[in-house]
Amino acid sequence: MKVTRIEVLELEAPLEKPWRIATFDLKSLLATVVRIHSDEGLTGLGECIVRLGPGATRAVIEEVLAPVVVGRDVFDIEGIWDDMYRTMRARGHSRGYLLEAISGIDIALWDLLGKKLGLPVARLLAGHGRTELPAYASSILLDTPAVMAHEAERLAAEGYTGIKMKVGAAQNEDIARMNAVRKAVGPNVDVMLDANSGYDAPTAVIVGQHAEKLGMFWLEEPVVPDDLPGYRRIRDAVKSVRLAAGEGEFTVAGFRPFLEEGLLDVVQPDIARAGGFTGCRRIAAFAGAYNVAVAPHTGASGPICIAASLHFAAATPGLLTFEHMYIYNPLHEMLAQPLPQPKSGRIAVPTAPGIGVELDPSAVKRFLRKGSAQHAAS
Ligand SMILES: [Mg+2]
Repeated sequence: MKVTRIEVLELEAPLEKPWRIATFDLKSLLATVVRIHSDEGLTGLGECIVRLGPGATRAVIEEVLAPVVVGRDVFDIEGIWDDMYRTMRARGHSRGYLLEAISGIDIALWDLLGKKLGLPVARLLAGHGRTELPAYASSILLDTPAVMAHEAERLAAEGYTGIKMKVGAAQNEDIARMNAVRKAVGPNVDVMLDANSGYDAPTAVIVGQHAEKLGMFWLEEPVVPDDLPGYRRIRDAVKSVRLAAGEGEFTVAGFRPFLEEGLLDVVQPDIARAGGFTGCRRIAAFAGAYNVAVAPHTGASGPICIAASLHFAAATPGLLTFEHMYIYNPLHEMLAQPLPQPKSGRIAVPTAPGIGVELDPSAVKRFLRKGSAQHAAS
């Protein structure tokens, strides 16, 4: 089965109320969707993570990667991946838009392969074989301690035993938020803290040490991804709260220093950023060598990324927990059938061939970015 054409769709869903995190206000949700056509009439769907500039991902796919991928046998995924990565690697492009573009193509190729063989990708990966996953509720957005505590209480009552809350703002405000949430849910709920890289290292140490007293489960992205000295300082000072990071990393090479130096307890590759199934499988195997757990990042991405993440998580031996975004994401309306939703903190893995999702053409039309529609039809 050969690749004949790669179609790219830039999608955008404005939000009525922006999502407030430590370092960013998300005013609209974006996705660059990849549809790969084959000579057997089957098509595969993929998604590239995008927070700004979906047109940049499109250009990388159309101008850099499509010439490498079109005409190739869909069964040669790992070789195609290496050839895509090789295009610009020696010129310093081993992160960013290039890897995000590769991710969308890789997901679409695995989807195609699954459809061709009549198998869900979770089975195709011949991994752990989970049919449902432990899922935690992500994430309580920054607000007053009282509002965040009330939300945590509501989620615990829904049956979640793991709940993530945003921090990464002013130190004393965050400490008040953490105190309120812990008090609201009691000692038996795992509470994860996500700073979205909003701290400097000294603040992260103070917050992390307070989190130790509260028995918090993990502290995520305390500082920016490339602040390795900061991660070292935090690791030296915070012992009993797990350190989690990796949604801003792209390859095994990016995770290498974090794992070699023992800086993380949980890695969080995003399948739509860190090279799709092929790239994330390599990262998970690498983390396994250090006995470090995997908790895939999903965040504000669209439903194709979420579906792919479910399959990846189901197959990954070192899976710790699945990030279920419980906040309404309008991009999910692009699907013909909705994704599985968690019940009492567990979520089912889709069982249809490939990643198991189809687009609703009229919804997709609604989300097409202005000025990109004509391009998408070509
Ligand atoms: Mg995060």
